[in-house]
Amino acid sequence: MAGRHFLQIPGPTPVPDRLQRAMHRQMEDHRSSAFPAFTRSILSRLPQVVHQTKGEAFVFPATGSAMWEAALVNTVNPGARLLAPRFGQFSHLFIQTARNLGYQVDVLEEPWGEAANAAHIEAALMADTTHQIQGVLLVHNETATGVTCNVADVRAAMDRAGHPALLFVDGVSSIASLDFQFDAWGVDCAITGSQKGFMLPAGLGMLFASEKALARVDSCTTPRAYFDLRAMRTNNAQGYFPSTPALSLLYGLDEALTMLLDEGMDNVAARHKRLARGVRAAVKAWGLRECAKRPEIASDSLTAIVVPEGIDARTVIEIAFTRYDIALGSGLSEVAGKVFRIGHLGDMNALTLAGALAGVEMALLDAGVPITLGSGVGAALAEWRVQA
Ligand code: PLP
Repeated sequence: MAGRHFLQIPGPTPVPDRLQRAMHRQMEDHRSSAFPAFTRSILSRLPQVVHQTKGEAFVFPATGSAMWEAALVNTVNPGARLLAPRFGQFSHLFIQTARNLGYQVDVLEEPWGEAANAAHIEAALMADTTHQIQGVLLVHNETATGVTCNVADVRAAMDRAGHPALLFVDGVSSIASLDFQFDAWGVDCAITGSQKGFMLPAGLGMLFASEKALARVDSCTTPRAYFDLRAMRTNNAQGYFPSTPALSLLYGLDEALTMLLDEGMDNVAARHKRLARGVRAAVKAWGLRECAKRPEIASDSLTAIVVPEGIDARTVIEIAFTRYDIALGSGLSEVAGKVFRIGHLGDMNALTLAGALAGVEMALLDAGVPITLGSGVGAALAEWRVQA
């Protein structure tokens, strides 16, 4: 098809030309004396993305799912108990990963479309009087339902319970797009991947660890090899990596950090907030509802939209893809066929998103959803127009 394809799924997100150019390089010796300066350029700036000033950040050739494993095996002893709210497919998969690794996970079930409930976490921690629970697993932004949790509330609940568990936060679809306050929220391990807010291809996993988490690494008895942070720390301190780094992606990350930090993380978060407001105004104008059950928990990096009874969301997605050259996110697991998702994170601005909303409108109407063409786009433009 002529023209530009609209990749409007909530990750991978479009890779800006600037980052594509930065990655287009010859390979080089990752053991050379010149390499540490490059490693340090990345590792010294990466923590700024999540407002981390203490502890350490790590980059692996891997994806976000791998970082769930990396975080756990370095800090939680074999078979230990963990606590996790489940409110969507990614919180489910985080729990499954922990269980597959032999941990016992106490699951707090919340309805899909709801966020993690800090009061439920507090009650579960209060009941654990002997402090058996070693970690709380929290997905900050549930990409399956378009819901963002309040991490500060969860931290406050843990503190009220006086519980020493580590706080593990999955920031795969929030870090580098939504506000993420690693220090202020008392996060112990945050994880993400390169293909969302960082606007890169998939292939880099990132792990941010607090001093409290790092203090557990040496004494943790869980077997690990590739993800061993002890080897990573020794190498990183000298400016190297234990295995061959994903060089092209690292060059992309170096440039992505320049883009993000030049814009300023507060501005990045504000841009995503503004774009999300327009998309939500469009959904309202179409007469549809979001999967997120309350406006306060609606995500600023993607919107999951519920289709009316009798319509299969997969039809909307297929029409959008084949007729209008736009890729939308599908509904996962429990909400398959019931929702479609619009990603609005990464290299995105109001005009890009206006084009995407136009494509969604045509696909919705073609699929039999009785919307008025232009209604959502108009509502979004009213939201985005800059009035002097
Ligand atoms: N966690 C969340 C919230 C996600 O959205 C995803 C992927 O979309 C993952 C984890 C898994 O990450 P990856 O696909 O990079 O392994």
